[in-house]
Amino acid sequence: MNISRRQFLDNCAKISSMVFGSCLFTNEIAEGFMKLSATERPQIIFIQSQCCTGCSISATYGNEDDFINFITNIVRLQVHPNLSFSQGHTYLKTIEETVASGPFYLVCEGSVPAGMKEACIFNDEPMYDYLHKLMKKAAAIVASGTCACYGGIPASNQNVTGAISMEAYMKRTGVNKPLIKIPGCPINPDRLMGTVAYIVATGKIPELVKGVPKKYYPDLIHNQCGRYQAFNQGHYTKNFEREKLNCLLKNGCRGPVTYSDCPTRRWNGKVSVCIESNAPCIGCAHPEFPFKTALYLEEESFKDLTWSEMKKMMEK
Ligand code: SF4
Ligand code: SF4
Repeated sequence: MNISRRQFLDNCAKISSMVFGSCLFTNEIAEGFMKLSATERPQIIFIQSQCCTGCSISATYGNEDDFINFITNIVRLQVHPNLSFSQGHTYLKTIEETVASGPFYLVCEGSVPAGMKEACIFNDEPMYDYLHKLMKKAAAIVASGTCACYGGIPASNQNVTGAISMEAYMKRTGVNKPLIKIPGCPINPDRLMGTVAYIVATGKIPELVKGVPKKYYPDLIHNQCGRYQAFNQGHYTKNFEREKLNCLLKNGCRGPVTYSDCPTRRWNGKVSVCIESNAPCIGCAHPEFPFKTALYLEEESFKDLTWSEMKKMMEK
């Protein structure tokens, strides 16, 4: 697909805004893409392990940027389990050819069933073994979604499959490659597209804090929340139907312990975000998600607790 110079610069400005919050780096990103188009554009292999596909579905909705534009103009998406037309041997051959020709970036969705390898089979062998071959050759690895970043729902409670995160898997199998974690259940499309586009365009890894891009997870949701004033004044929601602007702390809100730019980035074409829809933040981007305990606070249960004690309680 051909695009005009203006459309090209618009796309670069969008990536700059997504990653840096302003258009300041538009020219740097444009130069990166021009260098790439003059040489060989890096390729993307997308792989799914133990997951529900929700993160891929979320990505296709787009937000600030359009997913189709992303896969047709910004990256060369070689294979995707849900989006590729090819199947069976043709699909596997594309992966083999991409690995052989390189360089490529590997985007991983889902956790790895380390305690029950047969729970996830790919190309007639456990994903546990296949993944290692891909990771060894990848230029960098992007963990897409909370399952890939921290284990997520497959690793919750009794964790019968022994699900582990990509980071734990890499440590266990001795893979020493750059890893960028994009948590969220599901991922916000901007965070995945913006991060991958930035890496592909510049060949650099964005600034990370604890492995996640600082740009997308800059502060606690609580500190950016539109209901912070209600929290300060002790106005808590008791009746969801009548009260639509009160603080959701007592309804299980995990905004006070979850780092993410949800309140400003928003979702679904920037239409809304969980708390604005009167749903407590469930902390889907938190490393402990989905947490071991439900958190519906009664006044009595926390009135004598300090704020830091309460936060500790929220992280369990
Ligand atoms: S709704 Fe949640 S994030 Fe917002 S102020 Fe209340 S506790 Fe904090
Ligand atoms: S507001 Fe909380 S629950 Fe909602 S998407 Fe963001 S991190 Fe997840």
